Amino acid sequence: MKYISTRGQTEPKPFSQVLLMGLAPDGGLMLPEQYPTVSETMLANWRNLSYKNLAFEIISLFATDIPTEDLHDIVERTYTEDIFGTKEITPVRTLKDGIKIQALSNGPTLAFKDMAMQFLGNMFEYVLAKENKQLNILGATSGDTGSAAEYALRGKKGVNVFMLSPDGKMSAFQRAQMYSLQDANIHNIAVKGMFDDCQDIVKAIQNDADFKRQYHISTVNSINWGRIVAQVVYYFAGYFRATQNNSERVSFCVPSGNFGNVCAGHIAKQMGLPIERLIVATNENNVLEQFFKTGEYLPRNAAHTYVTSSPSMDISKASNFERFIFDVMGRDANQIQALWTQVADGTGFDLSHKLNEIHEKYGFVADKSTHTDRLATIKEVYETDGELIDPHTADGIKVARAVRLPNETIVCLETALAAKFENTINEAVGKVSVPRPEKLMGLEDLPQRVQVVENDANSVKTIIRETIG
Ligand SMILES: *Cc1c(COP(=O)(O)O)cnc(C)c1O
Repeated sequence: MKYISTRGQTEPKPFSQVLLMGLAPDGGLMLPEQYPTVSETMLANWRNLSYKNLAFEIISLFATDIPTEDLHDIVERTYTEDIFGTKEITPVRTLKDGIKIQALSNGPTLAFKDMAMQFLGNMFEYVLAKENKQLNILGATSGDTGSAAEYALRGKKGVNVFMLSPDGKMSAFQRAQMYSLQDANIHNIAVKGMFDDCQDIVKAIQNDADFKRQYHISTVNSINWGRIVAQVVYYFAGYFRATQNNSERVSFCVPSGNFGNVCAGHIAKQMGLPIERLIVATNENNVLEQFFKTGEYLPRNAAHTYVTSSPSMDISKASNFERFIFDVMGRDANQIQALWTQVADGTGFDLSHKLNEIHEKYGFVADKSTHTDRLATIKEVYETDGELIDPHTADGIKVARAVRLPNETIVCLETALAAKFENTINEAVGKVSVPRPEKLMGLEDLPQRVQVVENDANSVKTIIRETIG
């Protein structure tokens, strides 16, 4: 299988090369020339597979240039009970009102990003060793992505991680999670500024082509194809756990920000998984809700992005959205170039003439949830079902309840655990103790390893230079 760019100006490439790429050189996103399709026989054979074996079957359809035994070994080491807390890896449970929840957040950092990042970390190490290469990952984080990347790449050969975070702006838990890592290849850099400043520094360094080349700088952001492909697996796993046989259909409800998670659901549906609807849940930053209701895509800038109590969804320009629109536009790269020129100049675009197809053929709908909804949903689930859900998952459940049709099976994806967001939990239900996995008890008391730097790119470059030598 070869991969092409949504902008059409990049030579087709095999999986192992796409894996280490961020944006394509033409500014587009990479994706398969065509999606593999899954026959009824394959679906029937997959129903009772373990998560590992299912992951192997699905990923091997996409990673056709990785030898079978090697992929098997990587998947085997990634999806273990030790790392993800249960043998099932992503168990599905049912709330009293019939809505189902698929647990995706029992990995090391308690958010769904581990599902893909743990795989990517092992893949990175494997590909780098094979090509005898060294890679330095530079990133900025306000919480979830950075810690998932660090836990995925800690101790891996051939990789250093330089992760910028805003000094003093993350929760005590988030700081402890990242800064307590003592692995020699993990470098936490706290910048005296805000998250946007960290991102600007990363961009400035990315734009310094000489530095980037000399120090082999790369990123792992949400557009990385390896992450998307690993996420496709849990849609299949969730479908099998939520149904008795393959004639049933299931809808998924996905708390969304950069459209990476639900993009994997779109691909699973295109492959032939019997998905009825893909329900996009947004918070107050509802650019995607607007699009799926009106056909108008009007991304906003940072100044028009609200800070909310589901912070990982505070995004107003969904970086993976281009992959979906590429399919909607019949994979016409020229049209994508034209549309994203309008995104770049701030006008956005209008696909209202495609809205019917987006609903009917692709199954997409959307709705939003606000701070008040989130608190009410957390409280309601706590009182009715006796469990605490995180604010992002609460957005999903609120939206699933709002759009649910009679007899529709909806699986809500649990994108984080409540333990990460104690303040919001307490605001919703009062002072209760929020359960935390055994492994993370006393996390905040561990010694921390972080360098604080001034808010400028040169200080960060100096650290990279001195570290790599
Ligand atoms: C990253 C994240 C999201 C958003 O996922 P996208 O793939 O960016 O749409 C939602 N919830 C949590 C907890 C996250 O960490």
